[in-house]
Amino acid sequence: MVSGMHCAGCAAAVERAVKKLPVRDIYVNFASGRLNFTSGEQVPTDEEVIEAVRKAGFKAALPPPELSIPAGESMAGDVAAFFTALFFTVSLMVVCMGHIPAGFRLNGMLQLILLVPVLIAGRGFFQRGIPALFRGVPNMDSLISCGATAGIIYSLTLLISAGSGHLYFDASAMILTLIMLGKMLEKRARKSASSAIRELLELVPPEAHLLRNGEVTDIPCRELAPGDTVRILPGEKVPADGVIISGSSFVNESMLTGEELPVSRSAGDKVCGGTLNVDGVLEVKIVSTGQASMLGQIVKLISEAQNSRSPSAALADKVSGVFVWGIFAAAAVTAVVWAFCGTPAQVLHYSLSVLVAACPCALGLATPVALISGIGRGAKSGILIKNGTALETAAAVEQVVFDKTGTLTSGLPEVREIAVFTDISQDDFLAVAAAVEKYSVHPLAAAVAGAASVKNLTLPGNVSGFAAVAGRGVEAVADGKKWIFGNDKYMLQNGIGLPDLPGSFAGSTLIYGACDGVCYGVIAVGDKLRQNAVETVEELRRMGITSLMLTGDNEAAAAKAAAMLHLDGFYSGLLPQDKVRILTQLNEHRITAMVGDGINDAPALAAGKPGIAIGSGSDAALESADAVLLGSDLREVVKLIKLSKKTLQIIRQNLFWAFFYNICTLPLAAGAAVKLGISLGPAICAAAMAASSLTVVLNALRLKSLKI
Ligand code: ADP
Ligand code: MG
Repeated sequence: MVSGMHCAGCAAAVERAVKKLPVRDIYVNFASGRLNFTSGEQVPTDEEVIEAVRKAGFKAALPPPELSIPAGESMAGDVAAFFTALFFTVSLMVVCMGHIPAGFRLNGMLQLILLVPVLIAGRGFFQRGIPALFRGVPNMDSLISCGATAGIIYSLTLLISAGSGHLYFDASAMILTLIMLGKMLEKRARKSASSAIRELLELVPPEAHLLRNGEVTDIPCRELAPGDTVRILPGEKVPADGVIISGSSFVNESMLTGEELPVSRSAGDKVCGGTLNVDGVLEVKIVSTGQASMLGQIVKLISEAQNSRSPSAALADKVSGVFVWGIFAAAAVTAVVWAFCGTPAQVLHYSLSVLVAACPCALGLATPVALISGIGRGAKSGILIKNGTALETAAAVEQVVFDKTGTLTSGLPEVREIAVFTDISQDDFLAVAAAVEKYSVHPLAAAVAGAASVKNLTLPGNVSGFAAVAGRGVEAVADGKKWIFGNDKYMLQNGIGLPDLPGSFAGSTLIYGACDGVCYGVIAVGDKLRQNAVETVEELRRMGITSLMLTGDNEAAAAKAAAMLHLDGFYSGLLPQDKVRILTQLNEHRITAMVGDGINDAPALAAGKPGIAIGSGSDAALESADAVLLGSDLREVVKLIKLSKKTLQIIRQNLFWAFFYNICTLPLAAGAAVKLGISLGPAICAAAMAASSLTVVLNALRLKSLKI
């Protein structure tokens, strides 16, 4: 964490200082104050990095440990300094406007005395700006302090040598005060934009009721360890991730998943830290705490995302890095031009205006502050966007490809029908299938195991040599014989002829079972569509986005689902690597996102632009996807795209306004339009500069309350 930065130029200066160490990919996020880098072969110590930042004129400290609420910079000092400066500036102006009549010298001396407290209140500008200028890395503070100093020196000279003329003590005081006001408001707004993480961290209750040897003791949550058992009363929050050992209750998970309705949870179910136990008493065995917990992972992901540099921020940072020198040059040119055609007072007036007007502050803030608000807004609804690049691609999506099983369908399939083709009974066939599938994590396997347990079948116990072939099926030795279960392609691959099936099997997912080269039977499995799948496809179509389906399932089952969903097309019988190939091809023509559940489709998720994982938050999904939807409603895909579009729109607006502001104010400040009667003057320039960065931050804050 770096503190003391006042503009994007400061952030660039810190980057340059740290670049001297053996590190790569340095990025200082001005909006959040975080410094990120990748270390090379030699790892610099924390002290070395902190020292490098200190040498550049800033303060650095290690970030607070994950899952502790950051203390945040206090605003009290800023507020006190501003009001002091305001009081003396107003007094100074009263004197300056001649309300206190006195001779030129006496009036001037009075102004100077009133200026001193303003300079003390705003000393930070000088303390940071002047040394930075001498180190050759000027920043916004250098511009302000040079401007104010020039005004003061000019006025002092006038006061001592001449007996009349226009003094600039009031202008210098106003510049400092207005910019202090701007910075103070901006800091407040920036804090508010990055409140998402704080809000998530506050979900963890302060204390937990630990159960040990039948006794209950209250301990702070951070002292909980995996293996502990806790009691959670109605209305209390779950202190960490765990499994329910006894009790049942409705649990409100909306804070994590964005889903509004509480879900029923009982013994054996998982509960996540931070969710709300609504009505029952639960006893929970803790499985993971702190950073390892779901909430810890979400917080880490968001904080990394908010601090990532998006493609559009990279450009703005490059521009503002060289901007400060450009402004000094512009002020010098202004001074030279006015020296030829104006009075010394005009030289000062216009070059001073240029110095304070042209600061690239807004430019540096434009993107990061919008990213922080947008990503924070998503997190509130269970939409996790991993970085700025993912957000920019999500905003540009033209086509969405959905995985079928577990994504377009609920992922909770059920056995519909069984047919056998040899002398084996249906129950025996199902029992052997369940015994083998017990070792698979695929949703289809759960359906088979579920059907066998409903019928109370005894499964063959001695199963060995289990292997799963992704997108095809499974194999294992049961009761001394090698069995294979899987789809038609898997059977053909193993040289097994397929039997004719009764008509009622068409359109279902089929699991054939074979042993000794003979197909023994087939299990038809059906799945319900996922919540709001039809609406999602429809809404995407309205947004001009086409929807396709990829599946490893057979063509008839795929066609049936595609027809129900009104999809624009589908590909069936695919292996995981086929999905990757198709996505890569599709992406050559149109920006194509991939939506999957993270089971068997992690490689495809990585190939999607962006890859969107839904409904699981499994480690594989968190790892390979660019965005993770924690809820189970498919409409979150639409929400993700809408939020990304809106965030990108705000980024573009911000960049436009920041550039536009600089392009407009610079010539006006330099006095280019004086002949037309338009002249800004240093004080108005300072106000405009402060307003421009405030506008950018406030515009980004609109994302926080965006309805999606
Ligand atoms: P999808 O692409 O629809 O998400 P998968 O790639 O996960 O589906 O699986 C593709 C196909 O492979 C399934 O439809 C099924 O026919 C077969 N399959 C995969 N795993 C298993 C399994 N454990 N048991 C039986 N069949 C399986
Ligand atoms: Mg799948």
